[in-house]
Amino acid sequence: MLDDTIAAVVTPRGEGGVAIIRVSGKRAVEAVAAIFRSKTPLTEVPTHTMHYGHIVDSHGKRIEEVLVAVMRAPRSYTCEDVVEVNCHGGMVASTRVLQTILLQDVRIAQPGEFTKRAFLHGRMDLTQAEAVMDVIRARSERAHVLSLKQLEGSLARSISPIRQNLLDTIAHVEVNIDYPEHDVAHVTYAMVMRCCTETVAQITQLLCTAKEGTVLREGLTTAIIGRPNVGKSSLLNALAQSNRAIVTDIPGTTRDVISENVTVASIPLTLLDTAGIREATDLVEQYGIERAQQVREEAQLVLLVLDRSQPLATNEKQWMLSLRDRAVVVVLNKADLVPQLDVQEIQQYLPDAPCVCVSLLHPPQGIAQLGTAIADVFALGAPAADDITVISNVRQIDLLRQAKESILRAMEAVQQQMPPSLIQIDLHDAWQSLGEIIGDTNSEALLDHIFSQFCLGK
Ligand code: GDP
Repeated sequence: MLDDTIAAVVTPRGEGGVAIIRVSGKRAVEAVAAIFRSKTPLTEVPTHTMHYGHIVDSHGKRIEEVLVAVMRAPRSYTCEDVVEVNCHGGMVASTRVLQTILLQDVRIAQPGEFTKRAFLHGRMDLTQAEAVMDVIRARSERAHVLSLKQLEGSLARSISPIRQNLLDTIAHVEVNIDYPEHDVAHVTYAMVMRCCTETVAQITQLLCTAKEGTVLREGLTTAIIGRPNVGKSSLLNALAQSNRAIVTDIPGTTRDVISENVTVASIPLTLLDTAGIREATDLVEQYGIERAQQVREEAQLVLLVLDRSQPLATNEKQWMLSLRDRAVVVVLNKADLVPQLDVQEIQQYLPDAPCVCVSLLHPPQGIAQLGTAIADVFALGAPAADDITVISNVRQIDLLRQAKESILRAMEAVQQQMPPSLIQIDLHDAWQSLGEIIGDTNSEALLDHIFSQFCLGK
């Protein structure tokens, strides 16, 4: 698989200033040199240099004016010879250049294949390869910072010593199995117990970061609910800082579910504005209300908007009671008007939900406090210190859990004074699961699965 040379357009499809076509593999330089006309032949240029010239077709006719960068192995993204052709943006130019390159015994790259090659050549471990996509997909600054840290190998650095510790213990138990006369059983048991206790603590610590990691990576689906005219659309607009939803004085004008991605205090939210929960007045409204109900049930976070200048309505009291077991933040809007409603009254219905006073007229007031309240509800706390590795990847979380379970089984086996050969199986399973996280025990199927989730050209 690593013998052939691959190419793809690595910039997003569509109009733009520049498009880049990346070519990687043994024939990369030769293939592009064959269709590139410039002062110096590409095969003779030093590595890590850029060259102006033209891509030509098989008749020598100019197709595109380009800049070509040459990065020779192993100092390239894939550790192979890499050539990057910078051409004009837009679908036509990049596609024509790519097609011309593909005629040179080069095949189109699969999604994630460049990164897969980087991994297979040992340039990065599996967690770093996965972090490449996380960096690209990051929806907030904090998610970006955390994925960059993982790209530098922070997770692998946390896992390697845990694995080494396990391996030392496994080796010790092995000796005990092979030469029982060398060692008394209780010494081995004590050693296994010590190692397992340490390992469980370390894995648990990593797993504790998973909640924050997952929220930062996936975002929270958020429903904004409230009576008509309390300011739901205004809240959506304030958060989105755009005017996508229509704000009006007429109750019931936000008819359909509009979703918008925003970040509040670095937390990505997918806001689902709803038609509001109110009496239906016509069929369109009815449709909107049904969807609103569904959205509200599915949302991970509910922002309940109340008008602070009005006393609580009966249906608002009922909603609050029905939301008791949900993640809710109460948004007390219209703080600029004379208050008719106080926080104590709300706490009778929703004792655990934070209340945030806001005013959503221009410019909106209280949005930062809303962000803090959301972070509190999800126990995201203050941003973790820089030396903490935050896990967000479902595959990694799953394998950490499996490793922890194996260790707990080993501990149970020790307590029951099981033969060392049985304990060994559990220790080995844990070692294996941790290895799978960093790709140490990679199988073809696993790699295909992971890299297929990449975008084309990465
Ligand atoms: P929705 O029906 O819940 O979506 O409410 P809207 O966002 O459409 O707002 C209803 C009305 O309340 C509009 O006239 C807004 O300008 C007004 N409004 C929204 N927020 C505030 C606020 O903080 N103070 C005051 N005084 N009026 C507001």
